[in-house]
Amino acid sequence: MSDPWSDALVQLEAVRAYLQIDEDIFKQLTHPTVYATELAVAGTRYQAYRSQHNNARGPYKGGIRFHPGVTEAEVKALSMWMTWKCAVVGIPFGGAKGGVVVDPHTFSGETLQQLSRAYVSFIVDQIGEQRDIPAPDVNTNGQIMAWMLDQYEKEVGYQSPGTFTGKPIALGGSLGREEATGMGGFYVLERLVEVLGLTRNQTTIAVQGLGNVGYWFAKLANEAGYKIVALADSAGGIVDTKGLSVEGVMEHKRKTGSVKGYGSAKAVESQAVLAVEADIVVPAALEQVIREDNADSIRAQAVIEMANGPVTPAADAILNQKEILSVPDILANAGGVTVSYFEWVQNRYGYYWQREEVFEKLQARMDEAFEAVWQTYKEKKQPKGEVWNMRTAAYVLAVERVIQAMQLRGSA
Ligand code: GLU
Repeated sequence: MSDPWSDALVQLEAVRAYLQIDEDIFKQLTHPTVYATELAVAGTRYQAYRSQHNNARGPYKGGIRFHPGVTEAEVKALSMWMTWKCAVVGIPFGGAKGGVVVDPHTFSGETLQQLSRAYVSFIVDQIGEQRDIPAPDVNTNGQIMAWMLDQYEKEVGYQSPGTFTGKPIALGGSLGREEATGMGGFYVLERLVEVLGLTRNQTTIAVQGLGNVGYWFAKLANEAGYKIVALADSAGGIVDTKGLSVEGVMEHKRKTGSVKGYGSAKAVESQAVLAVEADIVVPAALEQVIREDNADSIRAQAVIEMANGPVTPAADAILNQKEILSVPDILANAGGVTVSYFEWVQNRYGYYWQREEVFEKLQARMDEAFEAVWQTYKEKKQPKGEVWNMRTAAYVLAVERVIQAMQLRGSA
């Protein structure tokens, strides 16, 4: 199987059929700067990375993940996707991503804190509120951002809350950041259902992933009247055509550690949830889950990519052939970084907004971005042999914005 960086390069390459990209600019866009080291924590060494992809439109921006599957190729791809994501929703940031090869689930709080602080010491000179702004990603959260901020401020010697986003409210976090990615995806769902001519009560949804993103997406959709017919976490999946209560399933997961064994729901493999009979399937965990070998099994009308990079380019072509609409990650999950932007604005202003204000502004951004991608998708003519889908449309918009900023800066 291709690695995520190769996928990201194929996706960028595909845009060249629609957009002139000068060789020098293309070269810059395909060569992120990668910082790598080994972090020594509690007698063990952990490989760590930060990839900075592009900062033409503003400081580098992107999360840090703690996961055993982290690789340099993955971190590079994720940093490039952040550049496009920020450009699609029109926020003034570039793209970056960090990762540590580790399974933090067995860690004590103490070790997790040491690892978080060690990561900051490694990258301290490369980050800052006007340089590169990290945030949570897979297996990282507000508490980890709090430790990281504290370590950063100790090392630089001044307060700088805008250096990290996704912080707890007590340390300058934004109301609504916790649920922002799921909420942004929910706004996308509402627009998608409208263009597909469906209604809330008739629409069935399957969600793979019950971390922060999948949980909030499923919960908000469920509360709005959509029927959630399948849910999965990394241990397994459950299916119930009568509809699942997301809160009920979460309660069970909190008690037992997994969704498995919930009520009378049918147990399936986590991956099988993507192929159930549902109008919309939502990969909300990790990349490359819809691939050449299983894309044909997808039966939904549409996919909402809440994870980063869940659909490979080979699978994209198959979905396109099957006329399954896929709302790309760089649009669908951009709600998180959008509220990160609001958090950064509030930190720099020193003035904090109400929750309603955050959601109002988030919805306006998401609706505008969806509309722009949808219009581009509907209007463009497809050159022979190329895949034209919502991803290519979003890429055309995003890459054009990034290139414009690069050109305006000149090349001295
Ligand atoms: N990790 C999230 C993402 O992939 C959020 C990034 C951020 O807020 O900077 O979009």
